[in-house]
Amino acid sequence: MFPGAAAYDLDLTVEPAAVERLLSVGPADVDPADELTFARNVFLPLTTACRYTCTYCSFYDVPGQATLQSPEEVREQLRLGADAGCTEALFTFGDKPDDRYTEIHDQLQQWGFGDVHEYLYRACEIALEEGLLPHSNPGDCTHGEFRRLQEVNASMGVMLETTADVDAHAGGRRKTPGQRLNTLRAAGEAGVPFTTGILVGIGESWRDRAESLLAIAELHRRYGHIQEVIVQNVVPNERSDFDRPSVETMRRVVAMARVALPETVSVQVPPNLSPTRQLLSCGVDDLGGVSPVTDDYINPDYEWPALRELRAIADDAGVPLRERLPVYARYLPDDLRPDGVDAAGAPSGDRPWVSDRIRAAIAGDDPAGERYRGLL
Ligand code: SF4
Repeated sequence: MFPGAAAYDLDLTVEPAAVERLLSVGPADVDPADELTFARNVFLPLTTACRYTCTYCSFYDVPGQATLQSPEEVREQLRLGADAGCTEALFTFGDKPDDRYTEIHDQLQQWGFGDVHEYLYRACEIALEEGLLPHSNPGDCTHGEFRRLQEVNASMGVMLETTADVDAHAGGRRKTPGQRLNTLRAAGEAGVPFTTGILVGIGESWRDRAESLLAIAELHRRYGHIQEVIVQNVVPNERSDFDRPSVETMRRVVAMARVALPETVSVQVPPNLSPTRQLLSCGVDDLGGVSPVTDDYINPDYEWPALRELRAIADDAGVPLRERLPVYARYLPDDLRPDGVDAAGAPSGDRPWVSDRIRAAIAGDDPAGERYRGLL
């Protein structure tokens, strides 16, 4: 049982033998991918308020200093992104601001929103109006919250980070592995095409890494909703001095991810943080979202490489670089899914993986719809 899982009635274990097998995997046990994919996105940190204080995180701001993007700012950024050919609106914030963030709550109320999720819903609508498909990372969510946000999101995500109880999450306000796993389960039950990942170097052991990857694989086996798993190394920043994991460490973890997950689930590394070129031979097949118009606000010290840098990375690896949508094609309905792409299988419940609204946006005969379908 993972730490904190009992509080969520989460029946999830991994077999010790499977952990041992995964621990024996190395880069020589995997093949390089035959193509690299990426999504072109606009990165919107809707708010920097977060109820937690993870010690490696430079994203959150304390009460009184946290920012909140206005609807006008959101629209302006989205319009810039659409003009630059982006297809994804990546909305990120930490976890629902708690009572300490009075200014954030007051501002939201002044704009007519009861909470940050209501505001996120509206921001996603603005993205769709501007010709971008929303992909939101709103921290922990319940099944009901996922169901609601799914109406206006092509896909969503939250990093698992680790199944271990690490000091980096310690303190009065802390997220637990059980809570994160519960969120992954809720996304699966709601039938949301989902992105998750592990964070390497925050005090977890090799066994913890193996268990984290196997826990994700097990939740995917149950629900079929994981479209990609990010393997991200921690980086030093102004709040923490965690050592950046070595290249050899990252090569081994990426190989373990590739072996732990089914082939249809992409293994992603963020090219602005990772020793990407040295990881490509270990099974990486996706470089995540890259933005031609906005910064990586989670890690502002590490700029996104230009798109041509991504092409150079793919060229060096001798594989094609393909742009994709924030939702993987296998989650689309039959009439939109390209020939040769198998359906992901039915999600739990009686709904499709994408809402009518998202389906209509992709099927639309406007320039945005044409742009989306051009990437399928
Ligand atoms: S890592 Fe995420 S949950 Fe932790 S403090 Fe940063 S934004 Fe909040």
